[in-house]
Amino acid sequence: MNIGIDIGGSHIGIGLVDSNGEIIKQKDKYIKVKDRLNIEDFIEKEIIGTLKVWQKNNIAIESIGIAAPGIVSNGEIKYSVNLGLFGYNLKERLLKAFPNAKICIKNDAKCAALAEKNIGALKKYDDCIFLCLGTGIGGAAFYNGKLIEPKRSSGFEYGHMVIRSNGRTCRCGNRGCFEQYGSMRIFKNNIRYNLKLPKDMEGEKLRIAIRKNINKEVVKRVIDDYLENLCIGIANIVNILEPKAICIGGGFAKYEDILMEPLKEKFYKASHLFYKDNLPEVVMAELGNKAGIIGSALYIK
Ligand SMILES: [Zn+2]
Repeated sequence: MNIGIDIGGSHIGIGLVDSNGEIIKQKDKYIKVKDRLNIEDFIEKEIIGTLKVWQKNNIAIESIGIAAPGIVSNGEIKYSVNLGLFGYNLKERLLKAFPNAKICIKNDAKCAALAEKNIGALKKYDDCIFLCLGTGIGGAAFYNGKLIEPKRSSGFEYGHMVIRSNGRTCRCGNRGCFEQYGSMRIFKNNIRYNLKLPKDMEGEKLRIAIRKNINKEVVKRVIDDYLENLCIGIANIVNILEPKAICIGGGFAKYEDILMEPLKEKFYKASHLFYKDNLPEVVMAELGNKAGIIGSALYIK
């Protein structure tokens, strides 16, 4: 049994995972606005508190995998714009509480990608891409069944590909990044703005509002503009890496009934692709928000 922890932009998921990738036990904690004021202490307190309770219930805390957003290296979250973490050595801090545990930390999109590749939607593909569309955009690439891992940094920051010269300012400091046009955050903001919905409307409430207004011109236009930008980004990735399949995960999965078919339709028109035949498959992630926990527990070293 391994422990897998997914630190997301809005919540922390802690799971006990068996060797088949089944989550036996799970604890979720949402990050409130006040928790963000001291986010480092909050993360540690939540993880250590939960694992100490589990330990008392005879669960061995021997192997801990952590999926963390942003640039991660040697147990340190070097730079996570979405959580406001800079040079945060989480591994070192957790080792103080669990000195005998083996602790590994990796970029969250890579962890989710490894889970989808091993037991999810990408199982049957050797050359494939995982694209995580959420608050930002992250991802990974596999060639011959292996995750491509550059030495200098974790790489595959698809979200920070520049698709507009002098475009919108990104949280990374650059302008015109793909995630300023193709992330779920941007899609949801545009829908809320154009339908004059409350700024904090989220989840199923927001999806119901979209479905109710799906035939309105303004909604059609927002969806079409969003998917056009998404197709530009995906085509750039495909033109370079020529995968057999692209798996779309993250918050996008919750909007599958609204966005997936029109995305495929637009993508298969192939207007931005270099090779217009033998097109890659576009598939939906299968493991949902469990992918980070499973991937960090089982597949990172
Ligand atoms: Zn950026």
